[in-house]
Amino acid sequence: MQPSTSCVYRNARIIDGTGRIRQGYLAVEGACIVDVGDGDPPKSLAGRNAVDLRGRTIVPGMIDCHVHLSMDAKPKLDPPVSPQDHMLAVLRAGRNALHTLHSGVTTVRDCGTPGQVDFALRRAAQDGLCITPRLLLSGQALCMTGGHGWQFLGTEVDGPDAARRAARQQLKAGADNIKLIATGGILTQGSEIGNAELSVQEMRAAVDEAHNAGKIAAAHAHGGQGIKNAILAGVDSIEHGYFIDAEGIDMMLERGTWLVATSTPVRNVVLHGTEAGIPEAAVAKARSAIDAHVASFKAARKAGVRLAMGTDAGVPFTRHGTNLDELFYLVELGMTPMEAIQTATRDSARMLKMEHLVGTLEAGKYADFLVLDADPLEDISLLRDPEHVRQVVLNGRTVLDRDASRFLMGAAFSNIGVGAPGTPA
Ligand SMILES: [Zn+2]
Repeated sequence: MQPSTSCVYRNARIIDGTGRIRQGYLAVEGACIVDVGDGDPPKSLAGRNAVDLRGRTIVPGMIDCHVHLSMDAKPKLDPPVSPQDHMLAVLRAGRNALHTLHSGVTTVRDCGTPGQVDFALRRAAQDGLCITPRLLLSGQALCMTGGHGWQFLGTEVDGPDAARRAARQQLKAGADNIKLIATGGILTQGSEIGNAELSVQEMRAAVDEAHNAGKIAAAHAHGGQGIKNAILAGVDSIEHGYFIDAEGIDMMLERGTWLVATSTPVRNVVLHGTEAGIPEAAVAKARSAIDAHVASFKAARKAGVRLAMGTDAGVPFTRHGTNLDELFYLVELGMTPMEAIQTATRDSARMLKMEHLVGTLEAGKYADFLVLDADPLEDISLLRDPEHVRQVVLNGRTVLDRDASRFLMGAAFSNIGVGAPGTPA
């Protein structure tokens, strides 16, 4: 594999994530970007490996703030029951992480796995057994007894003390994010998406623990009341938010709460439907939500709610490696291609409190970027075709090079899976 330690990518069109577009060069030293500029690289960079990218476009590595690496996008989720199920889930997560990385996503926040599957995956990546995007992990999601997700990825908590303890347990195991279930969900039988689940007090106890530890907290929330409960509890992001009302939008603006709108999964459930084996109740719930999702997203965006990118990859028919479909939907929902790219790079990095590490192509940040053979500003949908993603560079190393038909399966990256936001391990 091409070594990274000192490399200049030149003659490239560079969309750097800040809103700027330039024709120029990008210099990498080890894992980091050391210089980006217009035109030819300065003499001080002479002598480095040069990669000519004439006709190609560099964009920052994409950030998906909501995935489930241990889940396989099957029509019906299988609840893990035996120790073997968990062991298999780690292997599955490793493969899914590779697909995600090769599609151009260089950072993910996993929003819930059974057991400690995600933490085992991070150890595997640190040991060089597999290669993954940068990982921010949640461990198990906190849900109420019988609440959304309990069979698949939840730990059931009732009362603020139990929520606090469960949050501390996830943090102890290595969580970078605490995931809370504020309402029912599409995929859990018997849970209604409009119904509130964890209470404000329960979520607040868990959010406080996350923030005290310097971590973040996210709430799965569809219905209007559950969304408000989660905002009042102090979560950093509302996930899905399909039924936000005007009051909820005002509350998000007041507190700076982010929205991770996950357009892809609701569409995929409706698109594939019961014919593909998705349970009828899930399809009906998704159908009932899709118009509200579009209206909520547009209203939130118009009002100026902060938006980050997430796909829920792993849920039925939202396959790992198709993550960049979400940018297509963001454009369909009214963003320009440039805004969609910035949402999935700079803004998502801000939401994850990693903006000093990744999200834009600037000196001092990690060299995470993609080389495309076409212009995504002209047609965002080309990102949906992985063939256009010719190279993926993570931490300064080329992890995929389609022109050379080479890719990295595993490598002991000491600083991959950046432990906590804010600490380049
Ligand atoms: Zn999810």
